[in-house]
Amino acid sequence: ILYNTAVERVMEDSGRAVGVRLENGEVISADYVISDAYGYDTFKKLIDDRHLTDRLRSMYSKPIDRMMMALHVSFGVKMDLSDRPNAFSLFLDEPIEIAGDNCSIVNVINYSYDKKLSPEGKTSLKVMYDTYFSYWEELSKDQKKYEEEKEKIANRTIEAIERFIPGIRAAVEVTDVATPLTTKKFTSNARGYGSKEEFRLRDTLKGFLNKPMTLKTLKNFFVIGHSIGGTNLYGCAAMGRNAVKKICKKEKKDFYSS
Ligand SMILES: Cc1cc2nc3c(=O)[nH]c(=O)nc-3n(C[C@H](O)[C@H](O)[C@H](O)COP(=O)(O)OP(=O)(O)OC[C@H]3O[C@@H](n4cnc5c(N)ncnc54)[C@H](O)[C@@H]3O)c2cc1C
Repeated sequence: ILYNTAVERVMEDSGRAVGVRLENGEVISADYVISDAYGYDTFKKLIDDRHLTDRLRSMYSKPIDRMMMALHVSFGVKMDLSDRPNAFSLFLDEPIEIAGDNCSIVNVINYSYDKKLSPEGKTSLKVMYDTYFSYWEELSKDQKKYEEEKEKIANRTIEAIERFIPGIRAAVEVTDVATPLTTKKFTSNARGYGSKEEFRLRDTLKGFLNKPMTLKTLKNFFVIGHSIGGTNLYGCAAMGRNAVKKICKKEKKDFYSS
């Protein structure tokens, strides 16, 4: 494992993936290449455009802007909420403004069920909102405004929860707001999947089978991960596992897993 090392290009020879070139120019040769990078990067930057089907080309022609669950507002509160449900939706009489959107439902995840996520008598909570990537990209040009907006959103969120759980505002000990830019910084996942209109039932079903994607014109290359329909953490892990299983089959080796 090479940390803090980005792959810039998948190397190919006679229609086969034969390794990767890193950002620093170093080339690592390989018998197989598996890309778990963000789909837009895999298809538009790492491999040659001629390997894409028309559909893939159109799906990844432009990253999408509206992102689901992309704004994460988390609180550590000095309050025991273990008598409340693991997840609940608060329907607000007066909507709150969140990153330019009018929001009348606040969905709260209550992590009380996991004792490792907060000390005794305290609770971790998270609220997620949909948002526009471009909104945060624009705001980040002015770091002060970006930070102020995060603070406003945290305040509005906890005030909304206060309407249902009196006293919670004063009990907040830790606050964290992660935006789509935070996700991009830490995982390179930027603007969601390919366009939703192009995502068909067939893809969803394929996603449930957790099959890695292969391309007709580039042998020994696999694409896995949530950009190509991997169903969450477990589905993406299974896609990786299935890619290795396929390689074992090709190499006529037994596949074992614990
Ligand atoms: C905002 C958000 C909320 C989510 N919420 C949930 C949830 O509640 N439950 C759930 O099950 N799933 C959730 N998911 C989906 C889940 O996070 C993903 O499906 C899962 O993380 C995919 O795991 P992965 O290991 O395939 O990819 P990732 O976790 O994306 O890991 C890919 C890795 O590849 C690295 N990388 C990218 N490009 C390159 C490159 N060019 N060179 C080298 N390395 C590179 C990245 O740095 C990263 O470390 C969420 C996703 C997002 C974005």
